[in-house]
Amino acid sequence: MKTFTEKAKKLPVRCFDVVVAGGGTAGVVAAIAAARTGAKTVLIEQKGYVGGTMLEGGTTLHSFFTLGKLFGRESRQIVKGIPQEIVDRLVAAGGCTGHLVDEVNVDYDEHCTLIDVETYKYVAAQMLQEAGVTIYFNTLVAGADVEEGHIRGVIVQSRVEGRLYFEASAFIDATGWGDLAAYAGAECILPKEYSVANSVGIAGVDVEKYTQYLQENGGLSGITYGLRDGKENQIVRVGAPFHKVLSTLMTQHAKAAGNDKATAMLNVKDNPDNHIPLEAQKEMARLALTLGFTTVHDNYFMYLKVNYVMKQGVTDQAEMTRAELALRERQQESLALLKKTIPGCEHAFIARTSPTLCTRRGRTVVCDYDIPNQEILDGVHHEDDIALFGFHDCAPKMHVGGDGSYGIPLRAILVKGIDNLFAVGMMISSDYYAYMSTRNTVSCMAQGQAAGTLAAMAAQQNVPPRQVPFAALKAQLLEDGVYLGA
Ligand SMILES: Cc1cc2nc3c(=O)[nH]c(=O)nc-3n(C[C@H](O)[C@H](O)[C@H](O)COP(=O)(O)OP(=O)(O)OC[C@H]3O[C@@H](n4cnc5c(N)ncnc54)[C@H](O)[C@@H]3O)c2cc1C
Repeated sequence: MKTFTEKAKKLPVRCFDVVVAGGGTAGVVAAIAAARTGAKTVLIEQKGYVGGTMLEGGTTLHSFFTLGKLFGRESRQIVKGIPQEIVDRLVAAGGCTGHLVDEVNVDYDEHCTLIDVETYKYVAAQMLQEAGVTIYFNTLVAGADVEEGHIRGVIVQSRVEGRLYFEASAFIDATGWGDLAAYAGAECILPKEYSVANSVGIAGVDVEKYTQYLQENGGLSGITYGLRDGKENQIVRVGAPFHKVLSTLMTQHAKAAGNDKATAMLNVKDNPDNHIPLEAQKEMARLALTLGFTTVHDNYFMYLKVNYVMKQGVTDQAEMTRAELALRERQQESLALLKKTIPGCEHAFIARTSPTLCTRRGRTVVCDYDIPNQEILDGVHHEDDIALFGFHDCAPKMHVGGDGSYGIPLRAILVKGIDNLFAVGMMISSDYYAYMSTRNTVSCMAQGQAAGTLAAMAAQQNVPPRQVPFAALKAQLLEDGVYLGA
């Protein structure tokens, strides 16, 4: 292959205590925590706003709570701290339903918390600024300077200032893709599961009419009511799972796309109540369009998921471009299909898309500890837990055992072989089923708070994070509102 040798050049150096790479679900919380703990913190985000996949892929924040009703006990809130503060601020700004009790999905997520994408971007940025975080938007983490398992600095590419060098004591990879870890030479695994999405916000719809159609045609699994545009008791979430709407067609589609894991998860069975026209169902299957939605506004679906399976994986550039193009095409086709098929969608239009596709899984970064799914199913807690979590995305097939919660130990976010790097968010857990729990938004946020806090403490003490006594970290987390058990 023909090559080109880039000329060495001197880069301007910026000095910080803590560098957070990626201003998404986990990174925002990590940066707020680090700055509040007293560290000079920089947050580097490739886009011009924060939020990441939590805004561009997801539907409801899974989950601040344990399951209760299914097991005949009280559901408990086990994630608090900064993630809860974000919810409170969003509610105050009119951009969140708060935590709703979901009477239908008691075997899945009993509580749901729905947010408005645009309000989050604004409120989270306010919180970062209040905490004193330096934000570098439109800036890409593009390299790492590592010596003997210690990161001395990261190289970034700023749209405005070009290439820069950010020096710091501790680094947090919150990129979702494991970019910083990979640049730093950490061991990473590329999982063989590459279902990506570009969820779409659709406006101009009649939420009630749409829901009624799905209900009358056997396509609905549940409705959740809550605060919508200031009015109580409105439809805010509708479940329309694959097997209700698409019957066996979705299985055929997943198989044809080579996504055996998705096929296994779908558990598709014929649904005799389904009277949605067959041609429309075939189209939905082809487009991998799911009809369930969440919303906090009248006449708006905050998220409809449009999916695509990347056969080659998320590190193949050509396949990535094909996926971006295909998803845009599918969004338009999905809109046309909705307008034609479902009452209430006649005047629908696309009001929001993500600037890029969202991956469900990028690299898995190898950490000191890899949480096995069995621990989640057994509800295991550890001496060094930095967060509790109680949601499993494979429910109702799999549930978190014990008292409904398990612990995420500090070891699970310390990157193996590098003494000052954390990995937080969807990058931890190599076991597919464990990852189906740890990857969820609220888990990512909780990991972020712990990483940010410890990174700041380590920087202040001028030691690598592993040398900060765990008791000191725990005391700080508790003081900052983190729940670590009764
Ligand atoms: C389609 C879809 C639906 C989902 N549905 C749900 C759901 O209903 N409930 C739920 O709880 N979870 C859901 N999830 C999972 C959850 O949303 C994600 O696992 C989680 O948000 C990931 O958070 P993160 O912090 O790891 O990454 P992200 O939130 O993606 O944050 C990474 C950030 O880093 C930035 N970045 C990346 N690389 C660089 C770089 N090199 N330099 C600078 N910045 C960079 C990105 O722009 C982004 O802002 C869903 C995921 C997808 C894809």
